Amino acid sequence: MKKIIFILFISFTITNCIAVKSKKTTIVSPIKTENTIEEFKRPKLMVGVIVDQMRYDYLIKFSSKYGNNGFKRLLQNGYNLENVHYNYIPTYTAVGHTSIYTGTTPTNHGIISNNWYDKYEKEYIYCVDDSRYETVGAKTGGQKSPYRMLTTTITDQLRLAQNMNGKSIGISIKDRSAILPAGHTANAAYWFEGGDEGKFISSTFYMNELPEWVKEFNNNGKANNYLNGTWDTFYDINTYTETLPDNNNYEGLFNGKTTPTFPYNLAELRKLNGNYSLLKAIPFGNSIVTDFAEATIKGEKLGSSNFTDFLAISYSSTDYVGHQFGVDAKELEDTYIRMDKEIERLLQILDTEVGAENYTLFLTADHAAVEVPAYLNSLKIPGGYFNDDEFKTTLNKITLERFNSTELIENISNYQIYLNKEKIKALKLDVNHVSQVIADEILNINNVYKTVTGHTLQTTNFDLGVLQTLQNGYNQKFSGDILFVPNPTTISYDKTGSTHGSGYSYDTHVPLIFYGSGIKKGQSDNYYPIIDIAPTITSFLKITQANGNTGKPIIEVLK
Ligand code: ZN
Ligand code: ZN
Repeated sequence: MKKIIFILFISFTITNCIAVKSKKTTIVSPIKTENTIEEFKRPKLMVGVIVDQMRYDYLIKFSSKYGNNGFKRLLQNGYNLENVHYNYIPTYTAVGHTSIYTGTTPTNHGIISNNWYDKYEKEYIYCVDDSRYETVGAKTGGQKSPYRMLTTTITDQLRLAQNMNGKSIGISIKDRSAILPAGHTANAAYWFEGGDEGKFISSTFYMNELPEWVKEFNNNGKANNYLNGTWDTFYDINTYTETLPDNNNYEGLFNGKTTPTFPYNLAELRKLNGNYSLLKAIPFGNSIVTDFAEATIKGEKLGSSNFTDFLAISYSSTDYVGHQFGVDAKELEDTYIRMDKEIERLLQILDTEVGAENYTLFLTADHAAVEVPAYLNSLKIPGGYFNDDEFKTTLNKITLERFNSTELIENISNYQIYLNKEKIKALKLDVNHVSQVIADEILNINNVYKTVTGHTLQTTNFDLGVLQTLQNGYNQKFSGDILFVPNPTTISYDKTGSTHGSGYSYDTHVPLIFYGSGIKKGQSDNYYPIIDIAPTITSFLKITQANGNTGKPIIEVLK
């Protein structure tokens, strides 16, 4: 009822304003608002939880193994959106985290991949590298910032809305997954440096020295404790009936193992698998992120001031496990059973430290993942492996035949072709013509499903299907001249393990649950694109949308 009154008030005021303008009469006095709008109180803490590479179906598939206080607590007491998809290509980690927090796609936010070819600098770059800054807390790994992200995040908008009060902090195993969600105005972002360091570190972009509580955390021996034990299944492995046999042909091996099978002797394996870097690739990498989240909440007293703080957490080890073992492995199943325990622990920490009524949380994923194509082939499902070398050779043949040159291609990456503009100019060729000829010709190459030129994406508006998702991922300044899409379930990857990056549903369909203060209980099958999360949060907090926002608030989840 209050909402209806509010809308009427707005439309009445707008009508009045228009009337005032057109008639050029004196301005009417504003209508009093005290009786129509209740004073709004934001929760003390916003928590964003991203589970890297979590497919939507894991909520269902492993449900019988989950406890009542982890994922199920969110599902039963929060609002579960069952048909949420990424609406752009490529579905990679940096792009996913950025799109969740900016409410828009690479077209606007500029993070077109994890790594991409910078056609101005003529080099391959990494999304959060920034040599202007130094590592804080270790020797290397911290020369980072979010400067390549061109738009603001909801974490930025919350800081701006509160006159730079309230804290926004990002934490993750991966640097990009801590830095991009925390935004440009973050108080801090922390990520885990592996190798011989085994610490959470940061960048001089945020601070000159780690706070005492981070130093204490790094000295508490937790990383070693996790790595000096064994990774065995949480429950009896014979009850893991949802996944393939422990020893199968579709899983990758750790160095020093001859079969991809439990148990994993971590004290032995760390010697041959990058020492502390091994922690990233096992479920205990998620455990140390929960430990660090607890230390952050306590150390920074999040949720205890008169302003709203934002903690952006990203769990990365789920992604490492999926890449190595594939989405149908016992290791993957065990990782999600343990992930459920981490969610349970995180909620308990929030209840204790902040109070159950004082926080609002969302949980989603930065992308999903494909079933191992070799496994699908064994079931007669089409798909397979994209041959990059064969593609390059054929492409050179095409340019030689059609334009009498093998120097027209400057770079091929992320299924995009960057042309050598200087060479094309020198040969007095037309860039758009060369692009179109190449796009038409490469469609004949094995496993190429669709092609389109950048020029077409600039001049045509696609509102459906693969071309629309390509268009949403296309950035006029940074993307390539020709874009192509491999066949469904066809990946440029090893024959073991899973990956992601496509616009097909196996990569785009992710969980999304809102939970906590101000959130309704319920579930829905309505379709929402991932970019709707950010405007839902800004609507909920009654703050200005992120400055590149193209999403719409998901009204049905809000009380
Ligand atoms: Zn990811
Ligand atoms: Zn990944």
